[in-house]
Amino acid sequence: MKVLVINAGSSSMKYQLFDMDNEQVIAKGGMDRIGLGGGSEHKYVANGETYKDTDLDIPNHEDAIQRVLNKLTDATVGVIKSMDEIDAVGHRVVHGGEKFACSVKITDEVVSVMESLIDLAPLHNPANLQGIAACKAVMPNTPMVGVFDTAFHQTMPARSYIYGIPYEAYEDHQVRRYGFHGSSHKFVSQRCAEILGKKPEELNIVSCHLGNGSSVAAIQGGKCVDTTMGLTPLEGLPMGTRCGNIDPAIIRFLMNKYNMTIDEMDAYLNKKSGVLGVSGVGSDFRDLSAAAEQGNMRAQLALDIFTYNVKKFIGAYAAAMGGVDAIIFTAGIGENDDYVRAESVKGLEFLGAKMNFDLNKTIHGKETIVSTDDSSVKIIVIPTNEELVIARDTKELSK
Ligand code: AMP
Repeated sequence: MKVLVINAGSSSMKYQLFDMDNEQVIAKGGMDRIGLGGGSEHKYVANGETYKDTDLDIPNHEDAIQRVLNKLTDATVGVIKSMDEIDAVGHRVVHGGEKFACSVKITDEVVSVMESLIDLAPLHNPANLQGIAACKAVMPNTPMVGVFDTAFHQTMPARSYIYGIPYEAYEDHQVRRYGFHGSSHKFVSQRCAEILGKKPEELNIVSCHLGNGSSVAAIQGGKCVDTTMGLTPLEGLPMGTRCGNIDPAIIRFLMNKYNMTIDEMDAYLNKKSGVLGVSGVGSDFRDLSAAAEQGNMRAQLALDIFTYNVKKFIGAYAAAMGGVDAIIFTAGIGENDDYVRAESVKGLEFLGAKMNFDLNKTIHGKETIVSTDDSSVKIIVIPTNEELVIARDTKELSK
C-alpha cells in the first residue's frame, strides 16, 4: 500500500511517499513560494538522487500537487507508473481543537468542522485546508485522512488544560491548552516503550521535542497528561524565535513603551523573541553554540535560559506524574545537540536520572539510551518521525 503524506503551509508544501508494506519512504520533496509569484524551487528526492527545479511559478496549492504527481509518475525520475498507485493521502493538520481527539477520514463534514476551527490557528489551518482542497481537486477518488498536531494531547485532564481566567473564555471561545507536536510525542513515546521492552501503560515519560518550535509533554500510561504549549504554539519553553512563558502584563507594558500595535506585539513575541531575541545572534542552536564558544555572553545566556527551562519542566512533570521512568530527547536540537541534552539533565540525579556524559557527547541523530546503566530513569535520544505517524494513521483509516 502506498501513502502520500502532505504537509501544506501557507506558501510551502512538503511531501513524502511511503510504501507502507515496509514503512519505507520511496520519494520525498518540497516546494516553497507557492502563490508568491515566481522564483519557486521544487526539490525532489528519489532513488538516492536529489533533483531541483528552480525559478518556477507555482500559483496555488493545486498546481503544487499536480507538480508532485508529475514528478512521482515521471518516466525518468518517477517512482510509480500512475497516480492510481497512491492508495491514500494523509494530511498534517495543525489544530484539531476539541473536535478531533484522533485522526479522521476526511469527508465534506470533516472539512466544515476544520473550517470552524480556523479561528484557533489562523496562520496554519487555512493552509492545511488548501492542501486538502488541492488534493481533492486533483485526486478526487483517493481516500484522505487528517492527522492533527493537537489530537494526542486531548487526553489531558481539565486541571492541565483550563487556564486561570474566567471559565466563560473556555465555554464561549474554547480558550484552553491544546498542545502541539502531538504526532511526534506519540511516536517517540511509543518507540521508547518498545526500546525499554515495556508496554506504554507501564511508563511515566517526559518527552522533550526540542526543535525550531519546542515542547515538553508528560505522558502517563501512554496518555498525555500535560504539555507546555497552549492555545497556540507560543506558550511554554522559550524557542528559536518564540517567547514561551512570560508575564502577560509585559504585553501591555511594552506596547506602551514601544508604541506597538497588537499585530506588532504578536510578531515581536512570535518572530523576534526566544533565543534569537535574547542572544541577538540567531535562532539556530548551531550558531548559538559557536557564538557562545567565542565568548558571546548573550548567546550563552540564551542557551542557559533554554536548558534551565527544559530542566524545570522535566522536574515539574516528574512531580505531576508522581515519578518518571524515561526522559526522551527528540527533534532537531534534542536529537543533535549533546550540550543542550547534558545541561538539561545536569542536577536531576536526585530524581534518579544519571546521564552518561561521555556517551551523550558522541550521539547525534541516532537512537540511543544515553543514561548510565545504574540510572533508574532512562534518558533516551529518539529521532522523531511525524510523517510516519501520519502515514500509519492514514493506512489504518483508509483500509
Ligand atoms: P526541527 O524544527 O526539529 O527541524 O529543528 C530545527 C533546529 O534544530 C534548528 O533550528 C537547529 O537549532 C537545531 N539543530 C539542527 N541540527 C543541529 C545540530 N547538529 N546541532 C545543534 N542543533 C541543531
